[in-house]
Amino acid sequence: MKYRIINDKTNEVEEEFYTKEEALDCIEFEFSFETHSMIRVIQCRECDNEGHERQDWYGISTGYWCDECYESNRYPYRKDAYETIERHGRGERLDDESRHWNNLSTYNERFSDY
Ligand SMILES: [Zn+2]
Repeated sequence: MKYRIINDKTNEVEEEFYTKEEALDCIEFEFSFETHSMIRVIQCRECDNEGHERQDWYGISTGYWCDECYESNRYPYRKDAYETIERHGRGERLDDESRHWNNLSTYNERFSDY
């Protein structure tokens, strides 16, 4: 997690910190809350870049990944439809909620080292 100080007028990043306290202190003592604001940046799971939340084909979150890692083989998740309990099982129809939980447990088993 990183904290960036943004100049409200220009939208430029002026400072970057690893703790919220430092970032807030910086605004308070070096800038002003009237001209600057703090945004929280969630880093990619593999590198220091800014990550965006990604989802697999079923809409299940796979965490935050930057564009570069997401497009590379560092991204370990499937982007297409993979086999789930529902599609592999006896074909009964499940409501949305239990389908979600079935997918989630398949997914957790498969990626349990994360
Ligand atoms: Zn990355």
